[in-house]
Amino acid sequence: MPRPGELTLVPARRGKPPRHLADLDVDARRQAVADLGEQPFRADQLSRHYFARHVNDPAQMTDVPAAVRETLAATMLPTLTTAVRHLETDGGTTRKTLWRLFDGALVESVLMRYTGDRPRVTLCVSSQAGCGMNCPFCATGQQGLTRNMSAAEIVEQVVAAERMLADGEIAGGTGRVTNVVFMGMGEPLANYKAVVTAVRRMTDPAPSGLGIGRRGVTVSTVGLVPAIDKLAAENLGVRLALSLHAPDDELRDELVPVNTRWKVGEALDAARAYFEKTGRRVSIEYALIREINDHAWRGDLLGKLLNERGRGWVHVNPIPLNPTPGSKWTASKPEDEAAFVAALEERGVPVTIRDTRGSDIDGACGQLATVGD
Ligand code: SAH
Repeated sequence: MPRPGELTLVPARRGKPPRHLADLDVDARRQAVADLGEQPFRADQLSRHYFARHVNDPAQMTDVPAAVRETLAATMLPTLTTAVRHLETDGGTTRKTLWRLFDGALVESVLMRYTGDRPRVTLCVSSQAGCGMNCPFCATGQQGLTRNMSAAEIVEQVVAAERMLADGEIAGGTGRVTNVVFMGMGEPLANYKAVVTAVRRMTDPAPSGLGIGRRGVTVSTVGLVPAIDKLAAENLGVRLALSLHAPDDELRDELVPVNTRWKVGEALDAARAYFEKTGRRVSIEYALIREINDHAWRGDLLGKLLNERGRGWVHVNPIPLNPTPGSKWTASKPEDEAAFVAALEERGVPVTIRDTRGSDIDGACGQLATVGD
C-alpha cells in the first residue's frame, strides 16, 4: 500500500500482456498476419469478426479456411480477460464485472443502461490495474498501482460489454454501448499511449474499430497537465473530465496528491485549453465530502475560477461521495450540497449532480478495488 500522498507515475516492471489485434492499426494487423505467412486480407476478416461481430471463437470464422483459423485466432485474438464474477443491481440494468488478466491482475468494469428521455448505455472502463494517484477518498487509490493495461485489454472490456448486450444479459433488451467513460480503475493519462490507442480502436468505424461516437467517449483525469495538452493535440474528439474536488491548493494537495505537481490553476488552464482546441465542453468532477470540501465559499471560489477563464466552456458535476472501506469521510448533508450548487449557479456555472449508480455493489465512482476479493 502506498504511503499517504505518495504518487506512482511509472509502474514497476511486469510481464507484458500478449499482443492482440486491437493493439494494432489496420496496416500493422496486415503485417502481423503476413509475418505468419498468411494473406494480409485475413487481417481484415479477423477485424470484422472482432470489431463488427464481437467474435473471437475460431469456430465462428467460417470465411477463414479451417486449417488456419486456430493459429490466426490464437496469435491475433488471444484471450486477454476472463470474467471472475458479475454483480448486478438497479433491476439488472447495472452490472459490475471483475476481470482477471493474463498475469492474475484484477480489474473491474461497470455497464449501465439508462432509459428515459436520453436513453444510452454507458460502460465505465479501467485503464490500469490499481492506480498510483493515491487520492485518499478513492478505494482504487488506496490499493496502489499494479500495472498499466494494454490497449487491447482496455478495448476487450468494451467488446465483452457488447456481447453481454447482444445476448440480452442486461435488463431492457438487446443493445449497443453508446458511451465509454474512463472512470474505472486507474489514471488514464498515466497510461497515455495505450489509452489513446484504445480510444482509436473504440471510435474508428467498424470493421477497423468499434465505431462508437467520439463524443460518447470521456477521458477522466486527476489533472496530469502535460498529458491533457498532448491529448488536446491528438484531435480525438473525445470529452475530458477533470477530477478537481477542491478549488484551493491547500485542500487539493491533500485530496488529490498530484496537485503537489500541477496546481489548481494549471489544471484549469489546461482544461480551458482543451476546450479551445477541441470545442468539447469540459466537465469538472467534484466529490462532495461532508464538511471537507462542500462549503458554499468553495462553490463560490470554484465558480469564480471557472468564469475567470471564460463562459460556456465547462460544467460542474458534483458527485455525492461514495463510501469506501476505512475512510472516515462521508457524503455531504443535503443542505450543504444544495448550498454548494447554489453558489455555483449564482455565478452562472452549469451544474448537474451526478446520478451515481451501483453503490450497493461497490460499483460506483471511487469504489472499484480488487484488494481482498
Ligand atoms: N483517475 C481518473 C479516473 C477514475 S475515477 C480520475 O480521477 O478522474 C472517476 C471519478 O470518480 C473521479 O472523478 C474520481 O475523483 C471520482 N471518485 C473517486 N472516489 C470517489 C468516491 N469515493 N466517491 C465519489 N466519487 C469518487
